[in-house]
Amino acid sequence: MTVERPFEMDNPLWPLLATVKHPSRYIGQEWGAVAGLNGSGKPTVRLCLAFPDVYEVGMSFLGFQILYALGNSLEGIVTERAYCPWIDMEASLRAAGLPLSSLESGTPLNRFDAVGFTLQYELTATNILTMLDLGGIPLRAELRGDGDPLVMAGGPGALAPEPLAPFIDFFCLGDGEILLPAVLEALSETRGLPREDRLARIAEIPGVYVPALSTCEFSANGVEIRSKQVFPVKRQFVRDMDSAFAPRSLVVPDTGIIHDRVPVEIFRGCTRGCRFCQAGMVYRPLRERSPEKVVEIARHLLGKTGWEEVGLVSLSSCDYTGLVPVLEALSGDLRDSGVKLSLPSLRMDAFSVALAARLETVKRGGLTFAPEAGSQRLRNVINKGIGEDDIRTTIESLSEHGWDRVKLYFMVGLPTETEADLAGIADISREAFAILRKRHRRAEVSVSVNGFIPKPHTPFQWEPQLPFQETESRCRGLKRQIGNPKITLNYHDPRQGFIEAVFARGDRRLANVIERAWNTGCRFDGWTETFRFESWMQAFESEGLDPHFFATRSREKDERFPWDQIDTGVSREFLWRERGKAFSEDATPDCRTGKCQGCGFLPEECSRLREAAEE
Ligand code: SF4
Repeated sequence: MTVERPFEMDNPLWPLLATVKHPSRYIGQEWGAVAGLNGSGKPTVRLCLAFPDVYEVGMSFLGFQILYALGNSLEGIVTERAYCPWIDMEASLRAAGLPLSSLESGTPLNRFDAVGFTLQYELTATNILTMLDLGGIPLRAELRGDGDPLVMAGGPGALAPEPLAPFIDFFCLGDGEILLPAVLEALSETRGLPREDRLARIAEIPGVYVPALSTCEFSANGVEIRSKQVFPVKRQFVRDMDSAFAPRSLVVPDTGIIHDRVPVEIFRGCTRGCRFCQAGMVYRPLRERSPEKVVEIARHLLGKTGWEEVGLVSLSSCDYTGLVPVLEALSGDLRDSGVKLSLPSLRMDAFSVALAARLETVKRGGLTFAPEAGSQRLRNVINKGIGEDDIRTTIESLSEHGWDRVKLYFMVGLPTETEADLAGIADISREAFAILRKRHRRAEVSVSVNGFIPKPHTPFQWEPQLPFQETESRCRGLKRQIGNPKITLNYHDPRQGFIEAVFARGDRRLANVIERAWNTGCRFDGWTETFRFESWMQAFESEGLDPHFFATRSREKDERFPWDQIDTGVSREFLWRERGKAFSEDATPDCRTGKCQGCGFLPEECSRLREAAEE
């Protein structure tokens, strides 16, 4: 069922399109978009999925596509979409007195039963307020009445949700394939009941956190959250990727987006154990999709959408045990049809010469690697299990196979970092260039540097972030050290990383700061051109909160964190143990190939544990 609502000339949005950049963001009508109800009768729930960033970013998230297809596959449910309008469109909507509405039917957000935000990163907080406000929904959950939609949020940001808690009615913790149907069923069952009663029913769903049922007490030992809900709230996850819901159709944008391709998820979770990586901790345990299923999904979606690229996506695609059979099965089809295959998230150790050669059988995408740190010592600290030789041989292999460009990702400000570690980044970059240059006159190396952000639910959740001024100075120094115009070095504004760290580990008091910053014009804080650092600093000052308390402070071992009410499956004891091993520069092997490291899962939850028991 594709969208039937024509973009008629009397649509009030139409004149505004001439006033904004990228009008295609607001038109909808894409191939694969769904209008109306699956089934007959009246819808029992109308859900608007809301992505708090621009269309091109939101459309690139596979999770958003999965939720959209899943919602629309359920009987009695209407699922539509809205993305955050860019600043020019926000101004035009306000000037015209028009609400933010869904792309599919042009329904204002406040006329849905529920609005569901995807929280992919911390710097979208003010965009959530923009969408609520423009959509006619009171910003604070406590100000909403029975006629207002229930506002929910999911995604990795929901696992440390407190700064957003006053704006969100409930958070869904874990995989949407499990949570969305359960939530929609509860919404349907409680239709017409008072808001409070609906929330009480929703709070019974495993994996759902309702902040309004809780209060916070702040003390020197952190924050104590007391709730009528049973704590901790356990993150929910699909056990078997083959039987998990997979979309049979995708929305194909009419305009360029960030990742313009068919995304096929090959596995979820990661057991490498990089100590800085939140995704590697919170998406455990590892769950692979079978090669047969991956190939079937890829072929089906390529045929259905006409996309010219297929991406085999995961946290570390080279670790997929079914990679060779999948590439063998797909290479022929792709070569014949000119479709490009991409493998995002390549690891330097696992990227074998054989795989590079295999990728040559199809059109090649750009290659990006993440050594993360400049020395073996620091890579041991962060448990990035790759050696100098891995880096060298991978670049040599790429060069031999015809690549003349490589992009390298590093972090600055990791715990224990020294001058020597920074010098190592410059050395690796120069050596990569020298290797490529031997064969290729147009050799290029681009280096991307991010300031380290200690994230919740990781072994570094207790660690301070480097002051942003120091991060800036180290990045500048690195640029000087590299000293080769053919090696470009870019780094993100460390002040944005600072604000991100504040909200990543912040508590409920920060909601006032978010609202104040939004009121003074903060929008799209993850975008360099719109980021307003001074406004944020003023907002902290006005609320009497010191941002350094959240970002650059070391925590004691037993401090109560604002995310302690959430159980991702990985235990705090494991994280503390890993932190200790980091400071001893002690590696933890990948439990996929080695023995279980006791991260917290039970045999019925972790297939690796079950396999080990069977052996
Ligand atoms: S429980 Fe053991 S085998 Fe399973 S993910 Fe954790 S460390 Fe790995």
